[in-house]
Amino acid sequence: MLQQTQVKTVLRYYSKFIQRFPTIESLAIANQETVLKHWEGLGFYKRAINLHDSAKVIMQRNSGVFPNNFNDLITLKGVGKSTANAILVFGFGKKLAILDANVKRVIKRIFNIKSLSRRDNEKFLWVQSEKLLPEFKIKDYTQALMDFGSTICKPINPICTKCDLNKLCKYTFSSNKIKKVIKNVNKVCIILKYKKKYLVFKNNDGLFVGLYGFDLVDKNKVELFLKNKIKIENILTSENKNTFCITISNKKMTIDLLVIEISKTNDLENFKIVSETSTLDNNLPVPNFVKKIFEKLH
Ligand code: SF4
Repeated sequence: MLQQTQVKTVLRYYSKFIQRFPTIESLAIANQETVLKHWEGLGFYKRAINLHDSAKVIMQRNSGVFPNNFNDLITLKGVGKSTANAILVFGFGKKLAILDANVKRVIKRIFNIKSLSRRDNEKFLWVQSEKLLPEFKIKDYTQALMDFGSTICKPINPICTKCDLNKLCKYTFSSNKIKKVIKNVNKVCIILKYKKKYLVFKNNDGLFVGLYGFDLVDKNKVELFLKNKIKIENILTSENKNTFCITISNKKMTIDLLVIEISKTNDLENFKIVSETSTLDNNLPVPNFVKKIFEKLH
């Protein structure tokens, strides 16, 4: 849950998730939609899918016993070298280096690494982070390094003036404040209606993989999209609804809602039919912005 997500955000989800899936077995036997429903709103949904897959693998291969060695951990989906090492450090007290985004940034700044190629960079960072490992208290050290990266040596505007490493750090940081770059994007949300109900489609990839929602299409591609997705003769009515804005990651999206009533659903795949309110109440996992769209449709 903590991959690319702050602790304060995860805290709202972790307890509920653990209550619903207290064991590896309970997670393994759940269906994917239930797992995603309990992850709903946390983002990066691929993590939930990978966690669920890993629980199944651990049940089948290890009879439900969580692996305590690198070779087994690295075969689990979504587990790379740094995650495997982090599990071994925090779960089993092994003396290993981790290289998550926070640790990477701290080491890069302290040694002022800019010019190496990406591969050499990665190698250098692993060597440095292994050299820095302390003899004792590996868990405290690892946690402290990650916390240092997320609270002091932050991605944007690190607090160098209050940093204890200021004197040895080689980072030449411009005093100008860096602002997060937000991109403006315009999209049309295609909402298909059938017999007074709505069709939501499962995302097979992307940011909302596994969740249900509507198609977001570039304004100039709406016609082509409709031609490919539904036969034009199946369109009964088409109506422009309100426009609304959301910010997802670094994108500010202006979304026009286009409601299209269709006469058949035969040619469509991977969808569920829901009423205006049912996506808000039932067990179907949907992104928050889809809930907002349903509120607009009322
Ligand atoms: S001095 Fe600034 S850039 Fe260097 S480690 Fe400290 S916070 Fe990070």
